[in-house]
Amino acid sequence: MRPLEIEVFSCRSDNYGVLVHDPETGLTASIDAPEEQPILDAAARRGWKLTHIFTTHHHTDHVEANLALKEKFGLEIIGPVNEAVAIPGLDRTVGDGDEFLFGDHPVRVFETPGHTAGHICFHFPDDKILFSADTLFALGCGRLFERPAADMWHSLQKLAVLPDETAIYFGHEYTLSNAKFALSIDPDNERLKARAAEIEAKREKGEFTIPTMMGLEKETNPFLRAADPAIRRNLVMEGKTNEEVFAEIRKRKDNF
Ligand code: ZN
Ligand code: FE
Repeated sequence: MRPLEIEVFSCRSDNYGVLVHDPETGLTASIDAPEEQPILDAAARRGWKLTHIFTTHHHTDHVEANLALKEKFGLEIIGPVNEAVAIPGLDRTVGDGDEFLFGDHPVRVFETPGHTAGHICFHFPDDKILFSADTLFALGCGRLFERPAADMWHSLQKLAVLPDETAIYFGHEYTLSNAKFALSIDPDNERLKARAAEIEAKREKGEFTIPTMMGLEKETNPFLRAADPAIRRNLVMEGKTNEEVFAEIRKRKDNF
């Protein structure tokens, strides 16, 4: 089986667009559809024809180009069963634990409520790739618009059991500000300090910070580290539950 090919590009103000191409079958999926022209340009650059959109959640900056691309390509849109009514052009709904094939590549769906109530992530287990959209960012997590912090903590825990070598493609370039926030609550984490310096250098050169790796996130992303003794000490929350610590970290980020 030949490996999947991936094209990453920026669109809107800080969204990432991602195309996934299976060279075996010619299938090409856009992970979400934030903006039509950059997606068309990316596909043209690689000589790929869009066959699918995998929708993660209903926010405009993830679905705006759904109908235009469907019109052009007659592609199939696969998205979250729990917010199906809000996804333009949706053809097929998927929910937690569902599996389907993209060519010969298995795809597994995780429901990750928090940012929105029905948000899903697409995992390609054989390829060790996760499309986490607005649930898990490099050094961050999505804002809680539709579900409480405890739900988001459990959603993130579902993803955190994936192998450390899983490449994570996320929805927004927020990494530099996430790094600054992470340092504010986990200042003695050597791995985080080194990573923050790397990120700063990258962003100065205008380079992308996508993809990240699950192992690295578990070592440095405060939103996955509510159980960490040093973070708990810094927050003076030693006796609290992981959910409570996570909620406090999320609240601090909202006000950072
Ligand atoms: Zn969103
Ligand atoms: Fe978004």
